[in-house]
Amino acid sequence: MDFGIKGRRAIICASSKGLGRACAIALAEEGVDLVLTARTEGPLKDTAEFITNKYGVDVKAIAGDITTVEGRKAVLEECASPDILVNNAGGPPPGDFHDWTIDDWMKAINANMLTAIELIRQTVDGMQDRKFGRIVNITSAAVKAPIDILGLSNGARAGLTGFCAGISRKTVAHNVTINGLLPGPFETDRLLSTMAPAAKATGRPIEEIMAERAKLNPAGRFGQPEEFGAACAFLCSDKAGFITGQNILLDGGAFPGTM
Ligand code: NAP
Repeated sequence: MDFGIKGRRAIICASSKGLGRACAIALAEEGVDLVLTARTEGPLKDTAEFITNKYGVDVKAIAGDITTVEGRKAVLEECASPDILVNNAGGPPPGDFHDWTIDDWMKAINANMLTAIELIRQTVDGMQDRKFGRIVNITSAAVKAPIDILGLSNGARAGLTGFCAGISRKTVAHNVTINGLLPGPFETDRLLSTMAPAAKATGRPIEEIMAERAKLNPAGRFGQPEEFGAACAFLCSDKAGFITGQNILLDGGAFPGTM
């Protein structure tokens, strides 16, 4: 299938590694030019070079923290009028809600809710004027099935999801869609870091713990980032203009509900 987005321009936030990187690769496969972001320059440069060499699309790498005003400004100076925006940032740390201060909450809400809303605010009008826009928010399966120790994530991402549920029904009239992609367990650095405490506490190798957890998923494995990237590329395609305000779980069937 031709996704019909060759030559379009995308901002993919937090994309030197993991799910953001996979979305960037899947869009590059469709001929989309990219602006990539991450805080650490080395891996960002490596990803940008890898994609340019393999897919021949134009890739700009903007090093900076997307959760800051300066970080977003640098990205929007490079690409003020994207056709596609993939919102992403690192997830908040796990913990016990008794320990979280207002400052902890503000950091999580800033990173996983307000940063995405601000980038949408600064790009969506242009998309509507040009009659094409695809916005995908990378959130979490925790939006649908909250995980107690990830309360900061549950709260902040639910806020973003609620906000987008409203505006996505307005923007779609201008062929601008806004959807959430909700990852369950995908094999990335982030997943490894969430398993590390269990490995440390039990003194067992992390690989053993990973294999055990993977078996608990109905698919009997973790998701692969490229599976996530493919779903993102479809939502960003010309074909997906009738899908908006949706929150799509990619979790191997772990969520046990009928819908
Ligand atoms: P990852 O493998 O750790 O990759 C995170 C990427 O984001 C890196 O490129 C990182 O580069 C960049 N990044 C992080 N914070 C940033 C910031 N403030 N500004 C710019 N770039 C930033 O993580 P992932 O697994 O892809 O996860 C992506 C998102 O999905 C996270 O919010 C995570 O919580 C959520 N999620 C993941 C899973 C999973 O199983 N993987 C499940 C549920 C939810 P730098 O560190 O250099 O900035």
